[in-house]
Amino acid sequence: TREASQLLHIRGLTKYFGSFAACNAVDLTIAPGEIHALLGENGAGKSTLVKMLFGVLQPTAGEILWQGSPRSIASPSAARELGIGMVFQHFSLFEALTVAENIALSLSPTVPLARIAEEAAALSNAYGLPLDPNSHVADLSVGERQRIEIVRALLQNPKLIILDEPTSVLTPQEADKLFETLFKLKAEGRSVLYISHRLEEVQRICDRATVLRHGKVTGSCDPRQETPASLARMMVGSEVAAI
Ligand code: ADP
Ligand code: MG
Repeated sequence: TREASQLLHIRGLTKYFGSFAACNAVDLTIAPGEIHALLGENGAGKSTLVKMLFGVLQPTAGEILWQGSPRSIASPSAARELGIGMVFQHFSLFEALTVAENIALSLSPTVPLARIAEEAAALSNAYGLPLDPNSHVADLSVGERQRIEIVRALLQNPKLIILDEPTSVLTPQEADKLFETLFKLKAEGRSVLYISHRLEEVQRICDRATVLRHGKVTGSCDPRQETPASLARMMVGSEVAAI
């Protein structure tokens, strides 16, 4: 069935903070090998939604089906074990530690540091994410710091990798490099959930887009079949876009 061929299927996912619904009955499906955009203005509920997928927040209501089976994702380590990797908008890195030492913190303490450094170097080469595992985070640019987060996620061999507004901290050249990495992940059959509010970016790299506004899905489409105006209308509402 179509459902079983989906990697991820979320149904009615809802998150209340007090009486405020940051996500309200969100439905979304992601197929293997798909780059799926989560599009929406600031405050639309994008980060809240993916935090539920990564076990950072627990849903108030709704269901997450992973490879056809309902799952509750209790923590980020549970998400990683399922095959979900996440690159946050705000990195959680220790400046005084090296790249390899930072990566080690999210792995089992039994994995030797030398092996982590070796694997991180191999992944950074394979995915076009130049990085020296022995450099200190304090000496790295924000683009390099993001690469640490991507390599850290890739070390767990994820089926789905979530990136929350990754290009907001990148130069256009760095963004182009990132897109090449995402295309490689797609070619391997991995899925990407790509959060952005930049229409041109989404139209360039994404196969599908789900648009959120005030916590609700206002549209799901192939972004390449849409005009920037029609996407903007889904993001901000017809009443505003019509002006
Ligand atoms: P986006 O990532 O699309 O910009 P968020 O998911 O971060 O949006 O936030 C959606 C809404 O939920 C915003 O109005 C935000 O202020 C609110 N919100 C997010 N996290 C919390 C929280 N922990 N407590 C209360 N309100 C929150
Ligand atoms: Mg956000």
